Amino acid sequence: MVRLLLSIKAELENVTDLQPLDDFEYFFKVKCNSCHETHPKSVSLNRHVLSSYELSGSRGNTANFVWRCGECKRESSAKFEDAYGVKPYVAENGQFGPLLVVECRGLEFVDFEPRGMWKCKGMKGSIFSDVDLESGEWNDYDEKAALPVGVSEFGNQWTRA
Ligand SMILES: [Zn+2]
Repeated sequence: MVRLLLSIKAELENVTDLQPLDDFEYFFKVKCNSCHETHPKSVSLNRHVLSSYELSGSRGNTANFVWRCGECKRESSAKFEDAYGVKPYVAENGQFGPLLVVECRGLEFVDFEPRGMWKCKGMKGSIFSDVDLESGEWNDYDEKAALPVGVSEFGNQWTRA
């Protein structure tokens, strides 16, 4: 098993605490550790959806993602580490900050497509929960703080946790 840390970075304009909504579907690119093939399409994982699987005869294993490689047919799986949770992104100046940890067996994730809705917080406490980063950029206006708000330059990085 390997623990992989997903970090993100973004330019935050007058907002902080950027994080996916609770019911977020994570779209990752997956790479098989047996044949080193990277699957061309992103796969989706949900932190609240677990499936059971059997691992070499032992029952009762659960994972958020169970996958059979199209090339070598090897089965692998991944599970979000609940204890780590999801960390809001607060780093300034576009530095990478940790988001979450995934425990991987037989596979690795190599990319993260930010589809789905995110939320963040304005300078005077306003909550924006319709932050769509799929186009790479989100802009709005914070009435309470009387400031333009935005998220841009989104990036992601996988490293060993
Ligand atoms: Zn494979």
